[in-house]
Amino acid sequence: MLSDEEAEEVRKKLLEQLENLPEEQQEQVELLRKQIKAASKEQLDNFIKAQVSRGRGGQGECIFCQIIEGKLETIRIYEDKEIIVILDLYPASLGHMLVMPREHYETLQEMPDALLSKIFLFVKAIIPSFLKVTQAKGFNIFVAQGEQAGQRVKHFCIHLIPRYGKDKVNFDWERLQVNKEELERLGGALRKEASKEITKKLEAEREKAEKKKREEEKSETEKIMRHIKRRLP
Ligand SMILES: [Zn+2]
Repeated sequence: MLSDEEAEEVRKKLLEQLENLPEEQQEQVELLRKQIKAASKEQLDNFIKAQVSRGRGGQGECIFCQIIEGKLETIRIYEDKEIIVILDLYPASLGHMLVMPREHYETLQEMPDALLSKIFLFVKAIIPSFLKVTQAKGFNIFVAQGEQAGQRVKHFCIHLIPRYGKDKVNFDWERLQVNKEELERLGGALRKEASKEITKKLEAEREKAEKKKREEEKSETEKIMRHIKRRLP
């Protein structure tokens, strides 16, 4: 458990961090500020523990986080404030690269949209030089999410695996024979669920755009009003 002093220190740091959040999140920020101010020592303690376990992928320290912090050796290809790209030291084929966010996110859905787009656009941008240097004839882009899918490190990353024709990478699988009715039922369920989610997302985006437009119009009106006022005697 944190001491009283430590708890106050944590509270202060958290409140400071809120200052860096963007304008459009002000409502959320206000809510968080109230929660932080009212949080008990125990709640602050739990919060810190959750942060630590998140940063470490839940079970022991996350290997990627350690690499990012420079605690483990690696071969870095590129890095900036948000992304880091390294060579896999136990590659599927020579030149196998890992593109990942600096911050620890376990799953694709947890990644902020802007960061996820940046990572995929980075992969797109690096492909010509990647193919030129490795002399690969093609590549696979691969994300493993969940233990069953072979996610070894609980830190989201995109694998970029060069393919040379005669390599030992195997993305082949047995093609199942399933009945058409079952597929149709599954397709229907997916369409229904996905359209609900996508509609929700599009609506949120439309609302955001409308709000921005209203604000722009408001500031335009204010500008005109100021202009008129200046001309009044
Ligand atoms: Zn990590």
